[in-house]
Amino acid sequence: MFRIAIGGLSHETHTFLEKRTTVGDFADRHVQYGPEIIERNRTVSNYIRGFIEVIEETGGELVGTVNAAANVHGYVTRNAFEKFTTEMTDALREAEGVDGVLLALHGAMAAEDYDRAEAEAVRRVRSVVGADVPIMVTLDLHANEDHHLTDVADAVFVCKKYPHTDTRETGEAAARCMVATLRGEFMPAMALHKPGIISPSIFQGTDFSPMRDFRERADEWERVEDDVCYVSVAPGFGYADVPDVGASVIAVTNGDKALAEKVARDMSAYMWKKREELARRPIAGPEEAVQKARSAVQDGRCPVVLADGADRTGDSTHLLRQLMRQGAGNFVLSSLHDPSAVQFCQQLGEGSEVAVSAGGWGQASGEPIHLEGRIEFVGDVTYELTGPMNTGGTVGCGPSATLNLGDSRYVVLTSLNHQVRDAEGFRAFGVDPSDMDILIVRSRVHFRAYYDRVAGEIIEVDAPGMGPADLSGLHFYKIPADIFPVGKNWQVEV
Ligand SMILES: [Zn+2]
Repeated sequence: MFRIAIGGLSHETHTFLEKRTTVGDFADRHVQYGPEIIERNRTVSNYIRGFIEVIEETGGELVGTVNAAANVHGYVTRNAFEKFTTEMTDALREAEGVDGVLLALHGAMAAEDYDRAEAEAVRRVRSVVGADVPIMVTLDLHANEDHHLTDVADAVFVCKKYPHTDTRETGEAAARCMVATLRGEFMPAMALHKPGIISPSIFQGTDFSPMRDFRERADEWERVEDDVCYVSVAPGFGYADVPDVGASVIAVTNGDKALAEKVARDMSAYMWKKREELARRPIAGPEEAVQKARSAVQDGRCPVVLADGADRTGDSTHLLRQLMRQGAGNFVLSSLHDPSAVQFCQQLGEGSEVAVSAGGWGQASGEPIHLEGRIEFVGDVTYELTGPMNTGGTVGCGPSATLNLGDSRYVVLTSLNHQVRDAEGFRAFGVDPSDMDILIVRSRVHFRAYYDRVAGEIIEVDAPGMGPADLSGLHFYKIPADIFPVGKNWQVEV
């Protein structure tokens, strides 16, 4: 019987955001220890559940270590990174001998002292378990990784879908590989290639070209070559000024390093050919997007989803201001991230009339917006996801309030940044989205897991913000000079 340690450390670090990611931010999302990790993830569709199911099914024993995740902010503080990695290595020492380690990491974490935070975390785990204990890692599709990680891990598995609806399957694939390796039936050999492309998240949905094409080719490699176990295509997280930024391909084979190299090189070359599609495309600004939304409503294509992809702090007012300016009615925005506006509403209480200035405190979020209306709802909101993404997982928004501005215009205010993934992202605040003509979300692709089927029309919006569809406005210093399209070499007029 095998003893497998499991754990997780997950953060998508937006290095351009000034606010650091602290221990408290991890506490706001989740921090779990020991057996709690197994209990809490058993019913949630995620990587860890995949680990748990496969290891238990094969009669293995699970040892929970640490599982921590935080919402998107700036660099992870030195304190937070040291705390969680030390707790993980301490737990492994206390376990006194495990046969393997399965870790659910993100791949785009950057800590104050470590741009390649995942590689450092795995290096620390390796220093405890030694060279002979396999360490296998799952990553988010937005992973920015290079050989620093593949040098210290035995096998790496990136989820294949964006929206990430297959994280449980990714966890299962890693755990199956672990079991086969421990039984001596498999010997992981891995190769990583980076095509040299940085791209904004909004172009990375896997139901569309070019990511769909990359995935098809990767699937083909897995199908035709018996020794190809898993081919990961990670387009990466573009809002990170780190040296390992950008797309990567990671191939895991059974003992065939040359084959892994061949697959990773082939995939990388294919991605390079389609680099334009992955990196650039014009998207409507707020004014044009609201015009389009209003004409879609007139044509009866409801609900119209306006997806504000550029807002990374959740407090942008550009789109809401434009909706009000153009006189749009029957809409709900979920949500406007503003703890002090929520607190003000809490003091007044449900049913009160309110005039409050909200949002617009972030680096590129516009001016605060004046809102007047009735407080329809006040509460501390944690809700359960019921759509295809992270089914059964919980989302915490902290103290929240819903304002009715009249003419069926609703604005949800939250204390934590919040991304809608399914209809619960409205219902939890007392608004039924099926009554609404226009739904406004702060999301690039994840909302599509549910709304691609439900929406009459989806309109992407590129408002000013810290997550622009055009990366050329951000000032990168640490990225490779040859990375397309914003590396220094591409800026030079030839
Ligand atoms: Zn992701």
